Amino acid sequence: MFFTGWRPDSHAASPIVQGYFDYNATTPLSATAAEAWSTASRSHWHNASSLYREAAVVHQLLDDMRCELADLVECDEPDRVIFNSGATEANNAVLSHIARTTTGKVAASAIEHPCVADCARALLGDRLIELPVDRSGVLELDALSACLSEQSDIALVSIMAANNECGTLQPWKEALQLCKQHGVPYHCDAAQWIGKLPARGLGECDYLTGSAHKFGGPKGTGFLIIPEDDRRFRSLIGGPQQEERRAGTENYPAVAAMLANWIALEPSLKKLAAEQQQHRTWAENEITAAIPGTRIVGEKSDRLWNTILCILPAHDNRRWLTRLNRLGFCVSTGSACSSGKENPSRVLQAMSYSYEDMGRTLRISSGWETSRADWEALIGAMKEVSAELAG
Ligand code: PLP
Repeated sequence: MFFTGWRPDSHAASPIVQGYFDYNATTPLSATAAEAWSTASRSHWHNASSLYREAAVVHQLLDDMRCELADLVECDEPDRVIFNSGATEANNAVLSHIARTTTGKVAASAIEHPCVADCARALLGDRLIELPVDRSGVLELDALSACLSEQSDIALVSIMAANNECGTLQPWKEALQLCKQHGVPYHCDAAQWIGKLPARGLGECDYLTGSAHKFGGPKGTGFLIIPEDDRRFRSLIGGPQQEERRAGTENYPAVAAMLANWIALEPSLKKLAAEQQQHRTWAENEITAAIPGTRIVGEKSDRLWNTILCILPAHDNRRWLTRLNRLGFCVSTGSACSSGKENPSRVLQAMSYSYEDMGRTLRISSGWETSRADWEALIGAMKEVSAELAG
C-alpha cells in the first residue's frame, strides 16, 4: 500500500509517493497541476471551436498557453506550438510528416525511445540511418557530422535530449548547431528532459516534443513544436482544430495543468538538480558497496539527476522487481515500454552490453522530492532482497 501525499514543507509542484522509484515511466499528478486542472475544468470547459463568447475565451486561453510554453523553451513564435496527447503522438506525427512529404532520409540516434525508433523503422525502412552512441550511452557527434557531410539527402535528424533508460544527456545543442550548418531540420524528443532540467534553448530545435505526465502533469497531454515555415505539416488524422495540424477538441484543462506545473518547477530546476544529484551519487555508492559487482550504466557521463540504471551481479531483474515491490518499492527493469516484454533493450544493445547483462538491469528513477531517507529505505530493501536471493 503506497502513501501519496505532499510533505508539509514540500514545493507545491512536486508530489512525493513513498517507495515510488519509477518517475521516468510516469509521475503522480502534482498539487499544482491538479488545482489548475480543476479550476480550468470548472470555468473553461467549453469547446474552443464554438462560436460564442465563452468558447472564444478558451480559444484565447489556449493561445496564452502557447505563449507561456514558447517562453519556457525560448521559442520566438508561439504559433509553432501544437497541443496533443503526448510525446508518442508528437514523435509519430513528425516522422510521418517527413516520410510523407520528403524522399530524404532520417538520421536518428540508436537509443531513441521506441515511439521514435519503431515508428521510423516502420515508415522509413532503408531511409532510416542509425547514429551510434558510445559505451557510456552518448551520441557520437563525429558520426552525425560525417553523416551530414557525406549524405546530401538527409531530411531530418532526430536525437533525444535525455535517454529514458540510462538517463544520459545527449549533446542536443551541438547536434542542433551541426544541423543548422548543414541546413537540415532537427527533431528533439525532450520528454525526459523537460521538468527535470532547464528548458531554455530547446525552442531553437525545428521540431520539439514533450509530455506532461513525465513531470507531474496529467497523462494524455503534451505538445509538439514545428518549424514556423512548415506549411505542409498536417494532423495525423483529419480534423480542423489547431489549423488542421492536430485534430480533436483541445483539452484546455489538461494543457493549463501541464503549464501551471511546468511554470512552478522551472525556476528551481538548477538548484534542485544539484541537490538531487548528490542523493543519487550517494545512493549509487551505497548500492555498489552493498551489492558487490553491481555496475552503473553511463556512470561517467552526464545523466539526469534522478536516474540510476544498474546491472546487478546476479539473478533475473524480474525477481528483484517483484521482491522489491513486495517490500513496498516500485522500480523498473528498463523503460516502461520495454519492461514486461522479452525484447532485449535496444539502448543497452547500442551500448554493447551483453544479453546476460540486459536481463539483470534495474532502472531506479527518483522524483523532485525524494529525500535521503527515501533512498536509504530503498537501499535497505535492496540489501534485504540481495540476501534473500543469495540464500
Ligand atoms: N519519449 C521518451 C524519451 C519517453 O521516455 C517517453 C515515455 O516513456 C515517450 C517519448 C512517450 O511519451 P508519452 O507517454 O507521452 O507518449
